[in-house]
Amino acid sequence: AEMFGQLTTGLESAWNKLRGVDVLTKENIAEPMRDIRRALLEADVSLPVVRRFIESVSEKAVGTDVIRGVSPDQQLVKVVNDELVQLMGGEVSDLVFAKSGPTVILLAGLQGVGKTTACAKLALYLKKMGKSCMLVAADVYRPAAIDQLTILGKKVGVPVYSEGTDAKPSQIAKNGLKEAKSQKKDVIIVDTAGRLQVDKAMMSELKEVKKAVNPTEVLLVVDAMTGQEAAGLVSSFNDEIGITGAVLTKLDGDSRGGAALSVKEVSGKPIKFVGQGERIEDLEPFYPDRMAQRILG
Ligand code: GDP
Repeated sequence: AEMFGQLTTGLESAWNKLRGVDVLTKENIAEPMRDIRRALLEADVSLPVVRRFIESVSEKAVGTDVIRGVSPDQQLVKVVNDELVQLMGGEVSDLVFAKSGPTVILLAGLQGVGKTTACAKLALYLKKMGKSCMLVAADVYRPAAIDQLTILGKKVGVPVYSEGTDAKPSQIAKNGLKEAKSQKKDVIIVDTAGRLQVDKAMMSELKEVKKAVNPTEVLLVVDAMTGQEAAGLVSSFNDEIGITGAVLTKLDGDSRGGAALSVKEVSGKPIKFVGQGERIEDLEPFYPDRMAQRILG
């Protein structure tokens, strides 16, 4: 299925209702706005976000001057486009690098969301930027996770630091950082353990790892398929451990868009990267304007 397909179609029915209209008024946008509201809710955008969005679009649409050569339906499309871009954070949110020493990027997330894959994807992305990287395997609960990271590391040509499953994650991270320093690496990416659900043990472990290596970036990896729940997770991880942003994975699937549209508004934290496939190359920065264009079709 085409990503956002349903959302795009839902929005189209809003523009269609403005055919033959001379100017946007409070009255004639009422029905299109209901369509937009419905389309967003069906895309699993969180309700408070939808409310604020509708309010803001309505206000701006009615207030705008008539532009010669631009039909009212196109004018509403433009307002919605601009608001979608704002909703998703406006500008692209670049990675921050440490002023000196290796930049530490910590990746967290629930099991199965694509965290380990994202570590390797990010390493490849940074390598292409000319940064030397090291991956650190601090997920000690699943031996398979360490193997997986090792295999992915080989694939992208980035060394993987690991101490097996007996050491403490915070200690592994600390030793990994030390090793990266001695090898003069630019960046280390720390893969941490996920759980099926948010639990206290995971949070306190993440806090310990964070304290041990003082990361510049703490990115929560969330699955786009979970819709607005992803935004809620970003919010609760931020409250618990303090994060700098999110990586939204599986945007290539049947994702309805709710996560992409809700994360920034719900959590205050930007989506920094999106994963759009299982291949190691399928990671790119999150561009709010491009995403809005994709949504508008
Ligand atoms: P982890 O448990 O969070 O470390 O998850 P993994 O990195 O092991 O990924 C779980 C599954 O999701 C694997 O089969 C990955 O290939 C797949 N996956 C990860 N990212 C993406 C993505 O962006 N798109 C798709 N379609 N699949 C992905």
